[in-house]
Amino acid sequence: MDLRLIAAVNAGKVAGVAARQLRRGGGTALPGLVAERADPGVARKLGRQLGGGRVLVTGTNGKTTTSRMLARMLAEAGVPYLHNREGSNLMRGIASALLGASGKCGAIHGGAGMVGLFETDEATLPPAARALAPRAIAFTNLFRDQLDRYGEVDTVAGLWREALAVTPKDATLVLNADDPSVAELALDWPGPVHWFGLEDAALGTEAAGAFDARWCRACGGAFDYDLRYFAHIGRWRCRRCGRARPAPDSRASNVRLELDSAGFAIDGLGDVSTPLTGVYNVYNALAAVALARVIGLPPEAIVAGLQHVQAAFGRQEVATLEGRQVRLLLCKNPAGANQVIQLLGTIGRLAERELRVAVLLNDRFADGQDVSWTWDVDFGCSPGRWTPRGPGATGRRTWHCV
Ligand SMILES: [Zn+2]
Repeated sequence: MDLRLIAAVNAGKVAGVAARQLRRGGGTALPGLVAERADPGVARKLGRQLGGGRVLVTGTNGKTTTSRMLARMLAEAGVPYLHNREGSNLMRGIASALLGASGKCGAIHGGAGMVGLFETDEATLPPAARALAPRAIAFTNLFRDQLDRYGEVDTVAGLWREALAVTPKDATLVLNADDPSVAELALDWPGPVHWFGLEDAALGTEAAGAFDARWCRACGGAFDYDLRYFAHIGRWRCRRCGRARPAPDSRASNVRLELDSAGFAIDGLGDVSTPLTGVYNVYNALAAVALARVIGLPPEAIVAGLQHVQAAFGRQEVATLEGRQVRLLLCKNPAGANQVIQLLGTIGRLAERELRVAVLLNDRFADGQDVSWTWDVDFGCSPGRWTPRGPGATGRRTWHCV
């Protein structure tokens, strides 16, 4: 009997109840935070009870949606799982999700048959990998994020290599073959890799936005592209050493983007569809499919999971506001925003009507107070003209596109 763990679990549970009663929010992070203070090993001790293995999903963009897609696939397959769905993707959020499933004695009921699915913040990957000894880690992509969070992409790439150094070497890396910054993780990985990628020349574009990856880590050479989908994502090759985009194990082709859905073909699964549109969601679907294959989910569950997934907060969520239908498209960095603008252009063309667009800029602490990243957003490729409206108060400035 681990008295320290039991004390930590109960302290965390009490903190969660108190936070909910005080309506302070934070119910998804506080229990974990309190429990970790009482026993820093709480995530490790609880997480390793999940006998179906632990799966981590990280990357700059798409980790929430990818995790939700995989969760839905697990549900369709009837595999019990634990997911930090509601909350924080830092260690405290992961610990909170584990606490929520634990009994007062520090045991997760039915844990032996359960898969742990953890959306993991990029900088949290080293402690998460150390604590959870994952059986698979998916890396969606690596872009510049809000600058005041982690600095440049090299910092994050360094943290990821640090995480891989403590990850069990029989774990499978699920890597985006089209992102050279993600692909380079395979350079020093001795274990298995499952690659995913997009093969659809029709989606290539000249106006792909700024590069967030410039130099080959193996030799320092620059990248050439046969095809670019957005930012530095595409069919790349190093000019100097010839290292090139690997052939994907899970590939999507024949992509059809609609207003409320995306359809595409995946090798071995045939034609699939998902209610989330945009090329970036095709990538999220691919990452989820690749992970599902690595953990051995049946094809029918994978296809059904893609079909039945629901949008997370702000991710193409549809809300009704004063009788009008409002579609929320969350973006947190230049690459994500450029993707959303490209998508608006596609939707405008498909719907053949004028779109009313408002850009709402949040500079609160959680999403980064430095909003200078918006300067790198390519508003010029949007379908209309942007004019500032409103009082222009910090955090409440809006642009309308007509
Ligand atoms: Zn090279």
